[in-house]
Amino acid sequence: MFEGDPSGAGGDIMARSRDIAETIPFFSQVASFERLWPVIEARVEEVFDNGKFSHGRQVAKLEGELAAYTGARFTVAVNSGTDALVLLLRACGLRPGDGVLVPAYSFVATATSVVLAGGRPQFVDIDPVTYAMEPGALGAAVTPASRFIMPAHLFSQMADMTGLTAVAARHGLTVLEDSAEGIGMRQNGVHAGLHGAGGVLSFFPSKTLGALGDAGAVLTDRPEVAETVSALRHHGRFGRTVDNFPGISTETGLPGMNSKMDDIQAAVLLAKLTCLDSDIRRRAELAEAYRERLRHIPGIVRLPEVVDRGPGSSCVFYVYLIEAERRDALVGHLARRGIGTEVYYPLPLHLQPCFAEWGYSRGDFPHAEAASARAVALPLYPDLTMEQVDQVCEAVHDFYAGRPV
Ligand SMILES: *Cc1c(COP(=O)(O)O)cnc(C)c1O
Repeated sequence: MFEGDPSGAGGDIMARSRDIAETIPFFSQVASFERLWPVIEARVEEVFDNGKFSHGRQVAKLEGELAAYTGARFTVAVNSGTDALVLLLRACGLRPGDGVLVPAYSFVATATSVVLAGGRPQFVDIDPVTYAMEPGALGAAVTPASRFIMPAHLFSQMADMTGLTAVAARHGLTVLEDSAEGIGMRQNGVHAGLHGAGGVLSFFPSKTLGALGDAGAVLTDRPEVAETVSALRHHGRFGRTVDNFPGISTETGLPGMNSKMDDIQAAVLLAKLTCLDSDIRRRAELAEAYRERLRHIPGIVRLPEVVDRGPGSSCVFYVYLIEAERRDALVGHLARRGIGTEVYYPLPLHLQPCFAEWGYSRGDFPHAEAASARAVALPLYPDLTMEQVDQVCEAVHDFYAGRPV
């Protein structure tokens, strides 16, 4: 099960408590969902009372709160992180055939969004510590067709935006960010997604701020980008698209999509936003507990290392990703102990069948390929207990100590 797959991690929300006593799912929010339910219920009731399930008030309210949280001048709520990327690329003026430099290791939507917007993905190798696009590799991958760079911030920390922005400036490239995983991450005081022309957020259920279904947003400081994304999410109609849509234009300025966020998802996200910061703190505690328990285990090749980017920079443990010897056997061993894991990302992007026509081959991006072969994510979510962290670490330890099952 991969992220973005509707049958994926988010499907576990309603996992029965009976199962949870016996197993440690890769992702679950049963306990926090129960705790938050009164707040969510009140918000969702407002949607029913108002009678507007689309174009309603909750979406506009959520946009305001996300702008306040991230510091973005504009936040445009949409139906997924993937559509947010496509609309952002289009609103920033991507023309057919334009090259967009993207990391060779990321969720597939980082690159498929480029194709969907009419561009051409140009892959770049990653930094093996941050798993994000590496500035030196970026410089070497630029061609005359390149017009944009779109690094992704993965798992727990941001790409080196200072280094990447400098290379982009040297080549006259526009900077966009796949900050789908980046809520709460900041560098030099600037939130993920706001280091260039714009970025995105994903609220897929297993993300740090998860909806009860699919949802996403575009973040930008540029009014023209925000205006175009707002139009494109609603069939390309410019004008007001919220509440009673007074004054909405019925003229279609651009061939748009229907990518609006549902009001019920906005209501859920408004409720969940109230505990985002405490969730992020809990995630950091759990990550620290993993680090203490795993650092001396020989078969583990790499634990997360957060690079210090100085004042105004912060990381968020969305995923606890380790690199391990005999990764697939470890995954099988943990599964037999009832412990869920997820392989991020099992195939580097340049080797995905959907990009075969661009002529990349194995060996082109060694760091991306090594990460794909060795990386596995352990359970990490606010509901997880320290006892469960102990159980996971004990199971990992037993595997490398030659105690299978
Ligand atoms: C989750 C994710 C996306 C896609 O977001 P959806 O809301 O699932 O469409 C894109 N890029 C990255 C890096 C992601 O992690």
